[in-house]
Amino acid sequence: MTASTPVERSAVRAATTAFRAQRRELEFFLWELKRVHETQCGVAPFPELTRAQADALLDEAFAFAARLGESYQASDREGCRLEDDGSVTLPAAYAELWPEYVRDWVRFQRHAEALRPGQLPAGLPTTLMQVILELFMGANPSFMTYGGFCAPAAKLIARHGTPHQKALLLDRIRSYEWDACFCATEKDAGSDITAVRTLGLEQPDGSYDIRGEKVYISAAMHQLTPNTVYFVLGRSDDKTADSFAMSCFLVPKYWVEEDGTLVDNHVRCIKVEDKMGLRGCANTHLVFGSGGRTRGMLLGDRKNVGLLQFAPLMSEARMGTGLFGLGLASAAYLHSLEFARNRVQGRRIENAVATAAPRVAIIEHADVQRMLLEMRSKVEGCRGLLGKLTRCAAELHTGRAAGLPADTLARTERLLKLYTPLVKAYISDQAWRVCELAIQVHGGIGYIRDLPIEQYARDVKILSIWEGTNYIQAQDLVREKLAFGRDPVVMDQLGEDLRAFLAGVPAGLRAEAEAVDAAFAAVKWTLGAIGDWVRDRELQRVAQHATRFLEMLAQVVVAWSLLEAAAVASQALQAPALADDEREFYTGKLATARYFIHNCLPGVHTDALVMRNAASFVPVASASFGQSASASA
Ligand SMILES: Cc1cc2nc3c(=O)[nH]c(=O)nc-3n(C[C@H](O)[C@H](O)[C@H](O)COP(=O)(O)OP(=O)(O)OC[C@H]3O[C@@H](n4cnc5c(N)ncnc54)[C@H](O)[C@@H]3O)c2cc1C
Repeated sequence: MTASTPVERSAVRAATTAFRAQRRELEFFLWELKRVHETQCGVAPFPELTRAQADALLDEAFAFAARLGESYQASDREGCRLEDDGSVTLPAAYAELWPEYVRDWVRFQRHAEALRPGQLPAGLPTTLMQVILELFMGANPSFMTYGGFCAPAAKLIARHGTPHQKALLLDRIRSYEWDACFCATEKDAGSDITAVRTLGLEQPDGSYDIRGEKVYISAAMHQLTPNTVYFVLGRSDDKTADSFAMSCFLVPKYWVEEDGTLVDNHVRCIKVEDKMGLRGCANTHLVFGSGGRTRGMLLGDRKNVGLLQFAPLMSEARMGTGLFGLGLASAAYLHSLEFARNRVQGRRIENAVATAAPRVAIIEHADVQRMLLEMRSKVEGCRGLLGKLTRCAAELHTGRAAGLPADTLARTERLLKLYTPLVKAYISDQAWRVCELAIQVHGGIGYIRDLPIEQYARDVKILSIWEGTNYIQAQDLVREKLAFGRDPVVMDQLGEDLRAFLAGVPAGLRAEAEAVDAAFAAVKWTLGAIGDWVRDRELQRVAQHATRFLEMLAQVVVAWSLLEAAAVASQALQAPALADDEREFYTGKLATARYFIHNCLPGVHTDALVMRNAASFVPVASASFGQSASASA
């Protein structure tokens, strides 16, 4: 760390950084709502970690996020550039930020299991890491894509790699000395991964000749690290075309010869995409095997199991998408709050025509308050939804360390899997809406590039598309996680946990508790209907409504999380001597939960009625959309 204190550094930078976060809110989330100091600190696998240490780390995280936020707008303007020699130039600030990020933060992203004895500290509690990553991703999401695949890549190698692959790659990727990228998408293979055509042909020396092209690959060509390992999904022969039989090939940008020298492996970047947002992330079109041989290694010793190898890591990638969305939505909301307090415009509605009446800040207008409440409830509700997922991950982590019985761990794992598509799809969709509202709160200046507001909206949109589009998440939820309602176990578990919480909600929040209970019943009722449609082979009907169903279930979990926060706040408000700002803070928590539960959650009942109404399913032949539009008459 540098010599100046985090507080000094953030004070200097506060004026120039786009970064915004509310320390009090995050402390409430960690210590009062999630009680991380009791559930995840001081217990295995973090027996030594104290709340004071975690607080000190948060100071550092705020300071680094402020540094990241300094280049948020500049990196959007600079973008990434493909040079004549095939190299890619990144925004200038990244070269300075990268070593600092790797030195100070990468070690915390490792899991305890990944460390050798004696190496300390062993990662961080999952929910604390959630908060730290939210800060970083909200401060500069493009920067955070570099090294973004290193942790999953290290796990893939640790689980499946050969001894040679582990010796060659594991420490380098784990420490971010070399970067790693996930390469699945091809021009004709997006959501339909079975269309992948890239080939890896086995050679007599045991290596593989990689031939093919991958598109949109994030953060894939840069000079931040001396080497990058591409995890390429491909076919080991032509015979498996159009099937799920794919292999994972490890393809270094520079091949390591037996004497340790690095030689060009002929991975060419032929295009850097010119994108709507996330412009500091180099999205590249890669060509393997052009102008020379590209050598790769088969991950492990089995062909055609690449998708199976990747599957467990998709949860982490999807959680990462939720974190990006939350970080950006939170920053957009906090900028809006600050702006609404300062922008003076118009008079209170009671004085609308009294020109002598004083003008007020726009935060006094009920419609601006509506927008702020909507943004706040979605941001805090999404943080709570993510918190449920990270809590499950933490319980698995501590539960395994404590040797809990297999059925207890299996119960937690089922919930973790259920929350994953909700986190990915609901948070990314709502983050986009929050960022759109941020523009609206700002009025004209929100549309102008002087402020980072319009950039938040551009940066956040990709999240509903990558890591499996949000429809793919809805399909996964309905089919894989809920078995079309035919396997009631996980919904019953969710219901048990929800009812156990609702039973203890304070009297002043009874109406809200009943509303959440009723909305959950509507979701279960609708899931029953989906089961009926599947039995009647109405699969198109299921598909047309799957996205709506995912949103319904997520809204219930978000409302539940907000009500948990309100219950904690209601308890805190009983304290006899509460400072005014603390009283306002807790009162705001009650308002936030009430807003969401009485304004957003009722949509679940409308959606349930819509889905039950047979007429709402509108099958339509492609031709009925009319002819393809043409530019000429
Ligand atoms: C900025 C950016 C970064 C990316 N980074 C990476 C990366 O690092 N590595 C990587 O491998 N890929 C990456 N991708 C690719 C990304 O994962 C794909 O764009 C995504 O999977 C969607 O594929 P597609 O673009 O071909 O859209 P399509 O699959 O063509 O989808 C278009 C639309 O059709 C819908 N659709 C498609 N199939 C079905 C179906 N069967 N039923 C119903 N609806 C369907 C989709 O939901 C979507 O609405 C990135 C993309 C972008 C833009």
